[in-house]
Amino acid sequence: MADVQIDINDSPFQRMPVEPTLLPGDATFQFQCRKGISCWNACCSNIDISLTPYDILRLKKRLGMSSGDFLVQYTLPYEMDKDSIAGVKFKPVDNGTACQFMTPEGCSVYEDRPTACRYYPVALLSMRKQDEYTDTASYAMVKEAHCKGHEEPRPISIEDYRKEQGVDVYDELGRGWRQLVLKKKSSGPTVGTPSKRSLQLFFMACYDLDRFKEFVTSDGFNDAYELADEELQKIQGDEVELMQFAFRFLRQVMFDEQTIPMRADALERRLARKQERETQMAEIVQKLGPLDDIVKPAAEVEDKYRCAD
Ligand code: SF4
Ligand code: SF4
Repeated sequence: MADVQIDINDSPFQRMPVEPTLLPGDATFQFQCRKGISCWNACCSNIDISLTPYDILRLKKRLGMSSGDFLVQYTLPYEMDKDSIAGVKFKPVDNGTACQFMTPEGCSVYEDRPTACRYYPVALLSMRKQDEYTDTASYAMVKEAHCKGHEEPRPISIEDYRKEQGVDVYDELGRGWRQLVLKKKSSGPTVGTPSKRSLQLFFMACYDLDRFKEFVTSDGFNDAYELADEELQKIQGDEVELMQFAFRFLRQVMFDEQTIPMRADALERRLARKQERETQMAEIVQKLGPLDDIVKPAAEVEDKYRCAD
């Protein structure tokens, strides 16, 4: 199949020095990770773990943090491809390589550990046809010398291993994001280089869900998009629904698909609001006199971090 690609770069093991071995879907392998094994915690001592939006949602909820605080404390951004589409990975401990959640007893967020940790030592690979969203899962095995789990005498099928590790829901809820990434990577010149704004929106919508929620409830969003009250309430009240809406929104922003109805008068309303803001600002400046010392630094900060007009 010439137009089918295996995108191993989307696997959580993309920077591993070990070349994974492709496995048939019904493969059985020998592996067990258990407390007391001689290599206990070795895999969590030197991490390179990419996170999906659902991984972040689960972890920030468990830790009772906002997505923004979680991103700052526990993650680092990285570029997934040459057009700067952003990924997020775990930030290790200060001056070290270990996961911040590793303890002598094991993983302190075990029930909410990310997809990559659940799959290890299996790698999930994605195959898709060019310019389509439909992807097919396939698997590979990563054997690293430090991992003694491969020497444990327990045969298990891929399917049973996935069930044991509880990856089904993670795969299901990560699919919308994986498909966006795959489509972006393989769309080539037909889609072109994404704008800075669409890349910023991709980062916010995928990884900073609390900020995306504010965006969806802003006047600017409401001016541009027409969402039924019922749908708005659903995405405001349920973070998983919000995340899935974010993927839908990005299909529109990145690939021009009409996934969310736009208001016919969207542009006029935005221009009117902009004009209103400028008029208000002019009135304030007139009342207060020259504001150079205050306005200039503020404008610089806004220009650096602003997501979009
Ligand atoms: S989240 Fe848990 S399992 Fe994953 S690397 Fe960190 S300590 Fe290890
Ligand atoms: S057996 Fe492998 S996965 Fe389990 S603790 Fe050891 S290195 Fe980590």
